[in-house]
Amino acid sequence: MHSLPVSESLESLGSLRFDNRFTRLLPEDPESRNFRRQVTAACYSRVEPAAVAAPKLLAYSPEVLQLIGGDGDPHDDPRFAEIFGGNRLLAGMEPYAMCYGGHQFGNWAGQLGDGRAINLGEVVNPQGQRWVLQLKGAGPTPYSRSADGLAVLRSSLREFICSEAMHHLGVPTTRALSLVETGESVIRDMFYDGNPRREPGAVVCRVSPSFIRFGHFEIFASRGDLETLRTLVDYTIETDFPDLIQADPSADVARPPVAAAAAQAKFGPETYARWFERVCQTTAELLVHWMRVGFVHGVMNTDNMSILGLTIDYGPYGWLEDYDPQWTPNTTDASGRRYCFGNQPQVALWNLLQLANAVVPLVGQTKPLEDSLQRYSQSFETGWQTMMAGKLGWKRYHAAADAPLTEELLGLLADSETDYTLFFRGLADVSAGEDDSLPASIAAAWYHPDRVDEPLRTRWTEWLRRYRGRVRSEGNSDALRREAMNRVNPIYVPRNYLAQLAIDRAEAGDASWLADWLEVLRTPYDESPGAERFAAKRPEWARNRAGCSMLSCSS
Ligand code: AMP
Ligand code: MG
Repeated sequence: MHSLPVSESLESLGSLRFDNRFTRLLPEDPESRNFRRQVTAACYSRVEPAAVAAPKLLAYSPEVLQLIGGDGDPHDDPRFAEIFGGNRLLAGMEPYAMCYGGHQFGNWAGQLGDGRAINLGEVVNPQGQRWVLQLKGAGPTPYSRSADGLAVLRSSLREFICSEAMHHLGVPTTRALSLVETGESVIRDMFYDGNPRREPGAVVCRVSPSFIRFGHFEIFASRGDLETLRTLVDYTIETDFPDLIQADPSADVARPPVAAAAAQAKFGPETYARWFERVCQTTAELLVHWMRVGFVHGVMNTDNMSILGLTIDYGPYGWLEDYDPQWTPNTTDASGRRYCFGNQPQVALWNLLQLANAVVPLVGQTKPLEDSLQRYSQSFETGWQTMMAGKLGWKRYHAAADAPLTEELLGLLADSETDYTLFFRGLADVSAGEDDSLPASIAAAWYHPDRVDEPLRTRWTEWLRRYRGRVRSEGNSDALRREAMNRVNPIYVPRNYLAQLAIDRAEAGDASWLADWLEVLRTPYDESPGAERFAAKRPEWARNRAGCSMLSCSS
């Protein structure tokens, strides 16, 4: 029985078809009361969103609405905000929070779980695709530990806009359907420095084929609960990796004797190994994308790693402004810089290793897992090279000759405080002709042209001379190269300070700026007329302003 009111249907949502596989097929926590606890031998606990005072729809994504089989304008029906603010359910929704664990900043943290996320159910759209709807910031769950289960507007807006921007940039990500203000305030000490204040609360509805993380598997392995581990892995393979099953008709032949847990397994060790291999590959692809667009996740704990290789959990993330591989937006990570831009590929590998440790009882031997980890590194490396060649307008990356040229460029970008996004757009405008000038489109990406001294300028001119020669060697026209480069180098990314401007306005009651920004971010590779303000490099006021280049986990 639900305690929240249930609506049969909603015009803007059409008649959504729910098919809740996760709750139907996986073990449920028998305790139905909502209090903080350790939950064992179960993948989820049933819990309803906490009703809020005055839900108001601030923004929504028309593409995601369509994806789940809805249409129309959700602003027209107040029940939309009620459903996605947590005050009402739609027939077919069966809310629950999931159990998972994770390694945080390199240490095993035990049970974490959906502390403020509540899954509403799984929609199957007319194309047969499955989409899980999840409210973030919808109130306490058994996994809330010492926290309140809520989210503030600033972090919710950041999650909403970045999820959608990433999708349009072509980066695998969870999506965001809606951003609803709750009409209630939430107390947060933003920098954990003894200055708590009331902030407006909000709820984001996230949408993804699955919200399963590496930590989902780690928690059962850490407890020695191989039965639930196997059940969850089997479920994941059947639900999200069905092609792996078809590819393994032999299932459990050749099972090694050490594979104790595999004794009753649905799949053979080979399928499990192949599944891990796939996770390594999609993770490598994801990391190449992050490096391409200049995204820093900020908290790459294993509980924030999607099993589908999606970007998940937008917290203290940031976008590179001046290129600096050491940069991290997360003040909690400022001393160790574990999750800084340049470390991300290595951290992903470390996280994959934790996943390998969790699933090794199913595979029965370490060798295939080690091989997959090695292939992760190779795939990342070749993927990175191809990606870099694309950013630079080259058809191919010839490691021997191109590596020194690329390394010199990255050094130059860092030494002359160069905007990562604007530089590559500017480079696309550089003519490949024999010309020793330093084009204005390059200098425009420098944060402090006055600090780019003569020796640095000489290095730039020399680099450009070599670059132009390299481009000429491929015989592409300037126009074709420019077009190709502008397809992989975005002009609009959700810059940190722009998010803060959107937040300032939304907190003052004006969500129109956010709507305009979202519109521009829907086509991030095409110049939108009149949208210069969404492409501008960071203004000086934003350099050290909280929320712009410094963020904490407080959200
Ligand atoms: P994060 O660092 O945001 O990935 O969160 C790590 C863990 O803390 C997850 O289990 C979250 O669900 C939980 N968590 C974060 N913020 C809150 C909150 N305000 N209330 C309850 N749980 C939270
Ligand atoms: Mg998280």
